[in-house]
Amino acid sequence: MDTASEIFSKVREEGRKFLLEPEAKSICKEYGIPVTDFRIAKNEAEAVSFADEIGYPVVLKIISPDVIHKSDVGGVIVGLKTAEDVRNAYKQIMENVKNHKPNAKIVGMLVQEMAPSSTEIIVGAIKDPQFGPALMFGLGGIFVEVLKDVTFRIAPLTRDEAEEMIKEVRAYPLLKGYRNTPPADIEAIVNILLNTSRLVMEHQEIKELDLNPIMVYEKGAKTVDARIILEL
Ligand code: ADP
Ligand code: MG
Repeated sequence: MDTASEIFSKVREEGRKFLLEPEAKSICKEYGIPVTDFRIAKNEAEAVSFADEIGYPVVLKIISPDVIHKSDVGGVIVGLKTAEDVRNAYKQIMENVKNHKPNAKIVGMLVQEMAPSSTEIIVGAIKDPQFGPALMFGLGGIFVEVLKDVTFRIAPLTRDEAEEMIKEVRAYPLLKGYRNTPPADIEAIVNILLNTSRLVMEHQEIKELDLNPIMVYEKGAKTVDARIILEL
């Protein structure tokens, strides 16, 4: 896989503004941010053999520079348990994308490890014209979308600041465990925040970054979707 700098120059050369999910996830990996295991399939047979390698269940997602919100065009199918599921999903996604966006350029199909459901968090970064990159943290779903329960800090983050961000959101008690849900790995979240801070500081061409959602487990975490948008 290419390094972050190589990926950013390639995206610029191609005149693109946003990175494809596998590009964004390769960069995350390079910076120590945990992501779901993935391969890029060019056809149905390859998708099946990659799914066999990764292990079921898997997720299939369209890879296209013309599709930023993949599920809006029927470009994501989760929970594929067999090779036959993968073949059907492959055909279904191709058809969905053709119906929604007939002229979309298809780069391939992302075959991905399915992350088990867990507590979801969101880590984001946005570049402020005056203050430079800033980090955002919140719990996934309604907490961010409805309750706007998020917290911000200017980068670079210190470890203390990362810990403060996590404790600051109103939903923080959920991360400490409730009913049948075990406590979340706070150290893993701190490391994701610190590594994201390092990434946006070292690559000032990033205008927006969105790790949404990240599943947090008792041990470790996994980024399910990653979006990176570059400055023009
Ligand atoms: P979009 O471009 O539409 O945001 P996503 O990659 O976020 O597409 O996929 C849509 C949703 O499907 C995610 O928000 C998540 O709920 C689920 N999903 C996607 N990939 C995975 C995965 N690897 N494991 C588990 N769930 C996933
Ligand atoms: Mg998403």
